[in-house]
Order: sequence, then structure tokens, then C-alpha cells
Amino acid sequence: MTEIIIRAADWVLCEERGPGVPEGIHGAECMTCDARSPLFDNDPTPIAVWCVQHTQEHPDHTLYLARTEKHWRVVPRPDETPAPADDRTARVLGPAFVGLMCLLTALSGLLPALTY
Ligand SMILES: [Zn+2]
Repeated sequence: MTEIIIRAADWVLCEERGPGVPEGIHGAECMTCDARSPLFDNDPTPIAVWCVQHTQEHPDHTLYLARTEKHWRVVPRPDETPAPADDRTARVLGPAFVGLMCLLTALSGLLPALTY
């Protein structure tokens, strides 16, 4: 199961879920000495225990940065309303074609000027 978080033109960002994928990966680091706890999936309790034990060993180390990390995945946008191939081609070629016509028009105006 994936939940769509944000969508752009052709891609969507989903929270990765499913068997074996942790809901969150918890970790903490000491702000005094940069010691880091091991990482634990889904349950922040072992991180809390690690923080308390670290303070017991180093009574002046009392501030921690706790993190919860998740997996995100960007996938191609599901085609809800598939556009006809002709429409897509027209959208891509349209601006290029107009640009080419402008260039040709400018050149044809320039050429007579160059012959004088
Ligand atoms: Zn520390």
C-alpha cells in the first residue's frame, strides 16, 4: 500500500509501506559528545532507554537529537486519464513548431535585406 504525498507532472512521491518496510526508523544522538544510538524500527522505546543510559554514564550529557526516518519512493504517475497519443505529440511539437515558424519568418525578412 502506498499513500500519495505529492504529485508533479509525471511523478508522484509516496510513503513506502508494505511487508518488511518499517513505519519509522528511530535514532538519537547526544548533543554534547556526538554519541549515536543504534537505529530501531517502529519503536522509539529502545532509543529512550539508550538516552537515559548515556546520561547515567555521562551525567552532564542531557540533550539529545531524536530522529524518526521514513522511506519515500518516487514512482511514475498512474495514468488516470490517458491522453491520446496525437494530443501528446501536438503538445510536444506545438511550441517547437511555432518557434520554427518565427525563425523562418525572421530569416525571410532578413534575406532580402542582405541582398542589397
Ligand atoms: Zn554524550
